[in-house]
Amino acid sequence: MIQLHDLQFEPFISEAEIEEAIAKVAISLNEEYKGQNPVFVGVLNGAFMFASDVIKRFEGDCEVSFVKLGSYEGTSTTGTVKTLVGLNQKLKGRKVIILEDIVDTGNTLEEINRILEIEEVADYQVATLFFKPEAYKKDFEIKFKGLEIPNKFIVGYGLDYDGLGRNLTQVYKRKE
Ligand code: 5GP
Ligand code: MG
Ligand code: MG
Repeated sequence: MIQLHDLQFEPFISEAEIEEAIAKVAISLNEEYKGQNPVFVGVLNGAFMFASDVIKRFEGDCEVSFVKLGSYEGTSTTGTVKTLVGLNQKLKGRKVIILEDIVDTGNTLEEINRILEIEEVADYQVATLFFKPEAYKKDFEIKFKGLEIPNKFIVGYGLDYDGLGRNLTQVYKRKE
């Protein structure tokens, strides 16, 4: 068990399980985007580890970019998503793969949809390491999912609780 700020967390997803989930996503991405020079767009901060590990497994040419969005305060979403750092790359006509650490309500994805509509991309899909099916409220199909998890608050492997926990190599869930 570990303590971050005022909360206690217990081990939930091991390094091996994370690796297996990433390998699965990478296999699908390699099949789908073979020879297509896609642009990966990682969503900071949470997706930095996932982006690094999944892109290392991508076999063809690709480009890498990041956006920074934020909606979470503490352990719950505020409902409004803010763009903190925008796109610095032209995506017009490109095949784009959004890399997310976790998709929860889908509010963040909706904001990304808005950003990408303006960019006139050729096509875009979302690859997320973790997905909370019980919390997801949108129609947009998420094509690449690493692991489906219950509606619990998790930290580790890039995900934080008020700034702490991103460096943990396995995933912990809030102790109830
Ligand atoms: P959504 O907009 O889909 O509700 O939430 C997306 C963002 O909220 C994620 O990219 C992530 O940064 C944060 N988030 C959602 N669920 C969790 C969670 O269980 N733990 C942590 N640390 N962040 C989460
Ligand atoms: Mg995120
Ligand atoms: Mg956060």
